[in-house]
Amino acid sequence: MTTRFTIPRPYDLHVHWRDDDRTALAVPHTVAQCAGAVVMPNLVPPVRTVADVDAYLSRLSPYLTEGFAPMMTLYLTDDTTVEDIAAAAAHPRVVGCKLYPAGATTNSHAGVTDLQALRPVLEAMAERGMVLLAHGEVLAGPGVDIFEKEARWVETQLTWLTQTVPELKISCEHMTSAVMAEFVGSAGPNVGGSVTPQHLLYDRNDLLEGGIKPHLYCLPILKKHTDRAALWRLVKDQHPRVWAGTDSAPHTRGRKECACGCAGCYSAYDMVSLYAEAFDRELGLGASAVQANFREFVAVRGAEFYGMEVSAETLTVVAEPQVVPSHYDLAGGDTVVPLCAGETLGWSVVSE
Ligand SMILES: [Zn+2]
Repeated sequence: MTTRFTIPRPYDLHVHWRDDDRTALAVPHTVAQCAGAVVMPNLVPPVRTVADVDAYLSRLSPYLTEGFAPMMTLYLTDDTTVEDIAAAAAHPRVVGCKLYPAGATTNSHAGVTDLQALRPVLEAMAERGMVLLAHGEVLAGPGVDIFEKEARWVETQLTWLTQTVPELKISCEHMTSAVMAEFVGSAGPNVGGSVTPQHLLYDRNDLLEGGIKPHLYCLPILKKHTDRAALWRLVKDQHPRVWAGTDSAPHTRGRKECACGCAGCYSAYDMVSLYAEAFDRELGLGASAVQANFREFVAVRGAEFYGMEVSAETLTVVAEPQVVPSHYDLAGGDTVVPLCAGETLGWSVVSE
């Protein structure tokens, strides 16, 4: 008999929906599989205030369904105020603020240049139970290698944050390095983090060996095998504050396959099957104990950290192979190439 098991409808706790013709592709994919999502604010211009949140939500509304919970984040800047935080905390759809060190990734130019100067804002967030979602990287430059950006951020910023504002809930987004995994693994109950499908499936050899694979290029960049192994240790040990968040980003083929390709992988088309593929390759998803861990990782642990209700609706995960489409068409004529395009995943999802 084909292996099958059910999980609660998950939340994608880190997703980019953008604000153009890619939105019509990305939002329905998330909505089809998830109970809700934590939506990233790095639009141009960014989502900085609750007024921006409401305007963005109204532009998203044609693609949302009743019962789906689009949870929003504010984009922290050097100019974010305590008043902005108070308004955000009172907004029913805002769960936290996204920290982008200025210049660290796509559309992050308005990000924070001096985290310590934002201490009153961070304290206001902590008082109100808001989550700081951190893109945990310093900028590359002399003395900072691109593969070390996350580790340096842990040493210089995260350590300061957890010591200075110990009550602040921090989600370390898209963890990639052994240094980050070890910090989160031994941190207190206010600190957790998400892991993407690509950082569980791949390391930098997959990105670079035998030719550069632009569709595996994301930030933080894929790291060494030993870093991936450290992430898996957290997942395998069922760390209560390590969860799924895709960081799915629908970049067009032209922006990925060029002389200066941009960072990001599109995985929202079927996040559950991608994580299932990763779990199966690493741990064997036929075993019921692994299925139970998968259920918690994909659908329970992150929701609990954010204080969101675990969905009563379920999806069924089945060991039925599927071939991932080579691309998705956008209304404007461009295409998006998904993670694992043209490959066979061993698992599929059915709604029952
Ligand atoms: Zn992201």
